[in-house]
Amino acid sequence: MNPTTPSWEKIRADFPILDQQVHGTPLIYFDNAATSQKPRAVIDALRHYYERDNSNVHRGMHELSARATAGYEEARVKVARFLNAGSEKEIIFTRGATESINLVAQTWGNQFVRAGDVILVTEMEHHSNLVPWQLLAERTGATLRILPINDRHELALDRLGEFLTPDVKLFAFNQISNSLGTINPVAELCAAARKVGAVTLVDAAQSGGHLSIDVQTLGCDFLALSGHKMCGPTGIGALYGKLALLETMPPWQGGGEMIETVEYEKSTWKKPPYRFEAGTPDISGAIGLGVAIDYLESIGREAIFKHDAELTRYAHEKLVAIPGLRVLGPPLGTPRGAVLSFVFGDAHAHDVVTKANEHGIALRGGHHCTQPLMRKLGLTSSARASFYFYNTKAEIDRMIEMLTPSEVSPEASPAFSLPLGEIYEMVVSDHARRPRNFGELAGDSVVHVHGDNPSCGDTLDLHVQFGPDKVENVKFTGSGCTVCMTSASLMTLKLKGKPRAEAARLMHLFHDQVSAPADSETGSGPRELGDLNVLGGVRKFPQRVKCAMLAWRAFEQALQESGHERAEVSTEEPKGA
Ligand code: PMP
Repeated sequence: MNPTTPSWEKIRADFPILDQQVHGTPLIYFDNAATSQKPRAVIDALRHYYERDNSNVHRGMHELSARATAGYEEARVKVARFLNAGSEKEIIFTRGATESINLVAQTWGNQFVRAGDVILVTEMEHHSNLVPWQLLAERTGATLRILPINDRHELALDRLGEFLTPDVKLFAFNQISNSLGTINPVAELCAAARKVGAVTLVDAAQSGGHLSIDVQTLGCDFLALSGHKMCGPTGIGALYGKLALLETMPPWQGGGEMIETVEYEKSTWKKPPYRFEAGTPDISGAIGLGVAIDYLESIGREAIFKHDAELTRYAHEKLVAIPGLRVLGPPLGTPRGAVLSFVFGDAHAHDVVTKANEHGIALRGGHHCTQPLMRKLGLTSSARASFYFYNTKAEIDRMIEMLTPSEVSPEASPAFSLPLGEIYEMVVSDHARRPRNFGELAGDSVVHVHGDNPSCGDTLDLHVQFGPDKVENVKFTGSGCTVCMTSASLMTLKLKGKPRAEAARLMHLFHDQVSAPADSETGSGPRELGDLNVLGGVRKFPQRVKCAMLAWRAFEQALQESGHERAEVSTEEPKGA
C-alpha cells in the first residue's frame, strides 16, 4: 500500500483522453463500468512494444522473440502477484472476463458436469456469467438454479442454504454487480460452497480494478478478470484457476502453443496454463495489462478503493436528493462498487443518456447486459454513472446540475428529449406522456406484431386491423424511450384509415426522413408527414434511428403478414441509390 495520499489531480493528468471537449464542454467520462480509460504508461507500453519488440512468443530463438516472450511471461507473473495466486501457472490469458468464464464452462464444465447436477448463479449476474452456464446446462442436462436478491438489492444470504445444496456442482457469482453496485461477500460464499463440495467461480470484471483481491484468502477456485476495466487494453483478460483443478481440465481450443507432441492421429497437451492458450496470444495486450497493474499498484489499491467509494457516496447522496430519481442497489451508507444505476420518473434511460451526452457527459443507458435482473426489478433499462479514481466531485456536480429539474421544467422528472428545439419538445413530451391509440385490437382481421430493440429494452406490440384495401385501425402497447413512443403514437394517427399503398408510401417517407445523412437539409420535411417531421432530427443521433423506426418496422411486418408484397413496404435503403 502507498502510505502517502495520492495526488488525484496529478493522476488524472496521466489520462490523455480526459483532456478534450465534447459538444463544447470538457468531457466527463462516467462509463467506467463499461471500460476504463488508459494511462499514458499503458499507451506508451503498447507503442514501445510495436516499435521495438514485436515478435511471436515462445517459439523464436532470436532477440525480439526473447523480448516478446519475456514481456508476456512477466505480465503473467504480475497478474499472479496482483491476485496473490499460488503460482503464475494458475494464470491463463484470455480475451476478457467473458472468455475466462466460457473457458471454465467448456473445459471444466464439459468434463465434470452431468445430468442431474445443479449449476448455481445469482439474479444479479451479467449475461457473461449466465449464458455460458445456460449453454452448459443444455449440453449436459444439468439444471440452472438462480439465487435471488432481496429488497436491498443484495444476495438473499438468509436463503443460501435452500439454494446451495449438495447437488450444486458449481456456484458462479460476481464480486461487484455491474448494474446494482452491490459488493458480494465472496469469502463467505466460497466457504459455504466448499461445505457442499461445490466449485466456485468469481466474476471479478467489476472488482479487479477497484478492490484488493487475494484469491487464497477468498478461497475461490476460479476468478475471471477483465483487463480493459482496470486501465489495461481491450482484448485482454485473465482466468485464475487453482492449479490442481486446471490440471484435471482438458483443452478447449486446439492449435499451436498448447500441444506437447502432435501425430496425425492424436496429440498430447502441455501443462497449464499453456494448455489453454492455443495460437498466438494477445502479446501486446498482456504486456499492457502488466503495465496497468504496475500503475494501479503505484497508486495503491486501497487508496483507489477509498477514493472511488468517496466519489460514489458523494454522487449517491446528491442523486437521491433529486425528486423522482431512484437509485438501484444497496441503500446509501452501504459499501458499494463505484456504480450508480438510476431510474428517473417516467424518463427513459436513453433519453437521460442522450441529454447527458449533449452536456459532454458519458453515461450508459440500457439493461447493462442484465436483462433478467432488469425484468425482476420491473424495468427494461436504467441509466448508469460509474466512476474511477480519475473522476472528480466537480464532474459529479455537473452531472447533478444536468439532472436537476430546472425552473422552466419543474416537474419531478424533466422531459428528457433530444435537444432539437421547442416544437420537438412540445410534440414529443405530449405523445410520450399521453400516447394516442394505446391499447389492443382483436378480431380475425387484426394482425399482431411484436417488436423490440434488444439493445435498449424498447418493446412494442402493434395491432393492425386491415380492411379489404385499407388500414381500418391501428393500436399499440409497450414501453420505450420518448422517441419510440412518440413515433408509435404519431404513426397510429397517421395510418388509421389510409389505403394500404398510401400507408406503405408514408412509411418510406418517414424512413427517409429519419435516416437521411445527419448534415442533410430537408427543411421542415414532407407536408404529408405532418407532426412526424419533428422526429426528422433523430438523424443526428444514429443510435436513436432504431427507436424511431421500431413501430414502423412492426407495421411493415404487419403489412407483409396481411399479404402485401414486401417490395412495396421495405424500409431498407434503395439499392444503388
Ligand atoms: N461480468 C461483469 C459483471 C461485467 O460488468 C462485464 C463487462 N461489462 C463482464 C462480465 C464481461 O467482461 P469482458 O468485457 O471483459 O468480457
